[in-house]
Amino acid sequence: MSTSSNGSPTVKFFSGEDIPLELHKVRIVQKLNLIPIEERHKAIVEAGFNTFLLTTKTVFLDMLTDSGTNAMSDNQVASMLRADDAYAGSQSYMRLEEAIREAFNCRYFLPVHQGRAAENIISKTFVKAGDVIPMNYHFTTTKAHIEINGGTIFEIYTDEALKVKSTHPFKGNLDIGKLKDIIKKYGADKVAYVRMEASTNLIGGQPFSIANMREVRQVAREHGIMVVLDASLIGENAWFIKQREPEFRDRSIKEILHEMIGLADVTYFSSRKVSSTRGGGIATNNEEIYKKLKDWIPLYEGFYTYGGMSIREVEAMAVGLIETLDESIISQSPSFIRYMVNELDRLGIPVVTPAGGLGVHIDAGQFLSHVPQTEYPAGALAAAYFLVSGVRGMERGTISSVRDAQGKDVLADIELLRLAMPRRVFTLSQVKYATDRLHWLFQNRHLVGGLRFYEEPPVLRFFGGKLEPTTPWPEKLVAKFRADFGNSL
Ligand SMILES: *Cc1c(COP(=O)(O)O)cnc(C)c1O
Repeated sequence: MSTSSNGSPTVKFFSGEDIPLELHKVRIVQKLNLIPIEERHKAIVEAGFNTFLLTTKTVFLDMLTDSGTNAMSDNQVASMLRADDAYAGSQSYMRLEEAIREAFNCRYFLPVHQGRAAENIISKTFVKAGDVIPMNYHFTTTKAHIEINGGTIFEIYTDEALKVKSTHPFKGNLDIGKLKDIIKKYGADKVAYVRMEASTNLIGGQPFSIANMREVRQVAREHGIMVVLDASLIGENAWFIKQREPEFRDRSIKEILHEMIGLADVTYFSSRKVSSTRGGGIATNNEEIYKKLKDWIPLYEGFYTYGGMSIREVEAMAVGLIETLDESIISQSPSFIRYMVNELDRLGIPVVTPAGGLGVHIDAGQFLSHVPQTEYPAGALAAAYFLVSGVRGMERGTISSVRDAQGKDVLADIELLRLAMPRRVFTLSQVKYATDRLHWLFQNRHLVGGLRFYEEPPVLRFFGGKLEPTTPWPEKLVAKFRADFGNSL
């Protein structure tokens, strides 16, 4: 293995082509359905133009999320067979604790059934009414849990974070000046904690640097404030640190993880992302914090040694955590993402750069610049892309936001279509197909119109809400597809 110009682990090709190579073989496969566009049209109408409501019978490439959809390794599957089923004190749990010590260097661990359950317990314990919680950027479930407990979040990202076109290596950094201002304005005792999110999900899987986290840590410590690390996408963040932060070029992923986690008082994660299984957890080296959090586990999750997970998942999670330390595994998704981002960029399609972890993020505001933000360009693009390709992405824009007290939409900072790249799931030709159809859609973007809600849940509306097109644009898109592609699928 060698390292290409921008540091991604590609094998050099004689042809000079810069393409990623799968460093695994596929031994269990699942048949996919690629159905005609007319049937996809019916499916997206039935789903209320909300890709969350599609069934996988109609989806070709499922790029909705990396949550629980990464491929498991043979070793993970094998570990599930030796699961020691016991309500309490299972050996499987002991192996998980050991994996946490090895991968995260944390002494205390609390298992939970998924990432948001950790957020529930942390918010319940540390957030009081009137508290403020500064962070590099919010995640949907994080924000909801903090607000339900009476806290207010402050997103103090740097100016570079929301720029679509950028070469900044660490768009997930927190603005230290703004952090100091918040502490001064509200007083340190009102700051429940500072939250750092690894590979900042909603702004394009963008990492923060260790230099930045060190500064966060120092300011927080000076004021006696806790640092909470959301490590759901920590493997990719560690990978980017190795690639992009010179101090860590020659350090192992394990050393980088220990450094990052060592700068936090509490680390929590969704195992659906980190280790391709269900579940999640909270890890710390602080006994006092551990004791404060501990009592909620049996109440909300399950006994301390399974936390709402099946024991099989506990085993697979332990193996998955250790596999996170393997560069050839952790680099797989970022190198495929980098390939697709570079291709789209070359084709002139507005895509978030530099490539992050998690997935490819298309700037829907620019892609569909003729669709007003009140008609949800990111949602419209997600629906249109599914229609013409069978690829399911996720809206990350105004639909994923909420309405204000007056019932008006709070327009998102940035309208994104996210195409998640679950680890080791797709092949290069599938990624090429996804790129090709998006290219066609870009050429025909003027045909795509907006959406409006006809069924809108009050909480997390992006999951269950239903919309309809504001004009009959889907019919036009189907007709143009047939004209250009004949009877091709
Ligand atoms: C997915 C995710 C969560 C929530 O985890 P779940 O397992 O889906 O509940 C929290 N934070 C981040 C950054 C995530 O990506």
